[in-house]
Amino acid sequence: MNIVEKNLSGTAEKEFRNGVSNDDAKKALELLLKWIGENPQREGLKETPKRVLKAYKEWFAGYNQNPVEILSKTFEEIDGYREMISLKDVGFHSFCEHHFAPIIGKVHIGYIPNKKVVGLSKLARLIEMYARRLQVQEKMTAEIGNTLQNHLDCLGVGVVVEAEHHCMCSRGIKKQGSLMKTSHFTGIFLDNSDKKNEFMRSIS
Ligand code: ZN
Repeated sequence: MNIVEKNLSGTAEKEFRNGVSNDDAKKALELLLKWIGENPQREGLKETPKRVLKAYKEWFAGYNQNPVEILSKTFEEIDGYREMISLKDVGFHSFCEHHFAPIIGKVHIGYIPNKKVVGLSKLARLIEMYARRLQVQEKMTAEIGNTLQNHLDCLGVGVVVEAEHHCMCSRGIKKQGSLMKTSHFTGIFLDNSDKKNEFMRSIS
């Protein structure tokens, strides 16, 4: 949450986010720059902490969003439709919570409605909300699936996430091009292998 403290003349003086002032956050970034061997005062880096904070606001915007709001608008006039709805290849960009390194990949979702459906753009926004937080891929996969199951009260949800983890491809073991695949299923997908296979075929 953003808070701007005003001085007596009414102009903004200090901006806070989640209880930390922007000035303190910039100082922390300057320290990191020094720590890696840089001079934070040189021309090219002077404005970098400010730019990084601006980028972080966007990359971590998911902390200020609420899935209930995103999924609040549903449609019930579906004439008894009870077959699978799937959405494949929704790209996302997140950060691994263990190394602060990018996780870049795709999410595929399938669900079987029970009386109501949600707009496709809302599914994409839900993915975006969870991606724009520090993440563990397994957790993100389950969060997307469980949130949909709970809010749509559907017959079942399937979520598959495939992503490249930069903490693995650019450091440590340095395995480039390897994709991590995770899946999460609820409801009918857990005990009906035909439905599960139909979903897996629809996203392949
Ligand atoms: Zn990592």
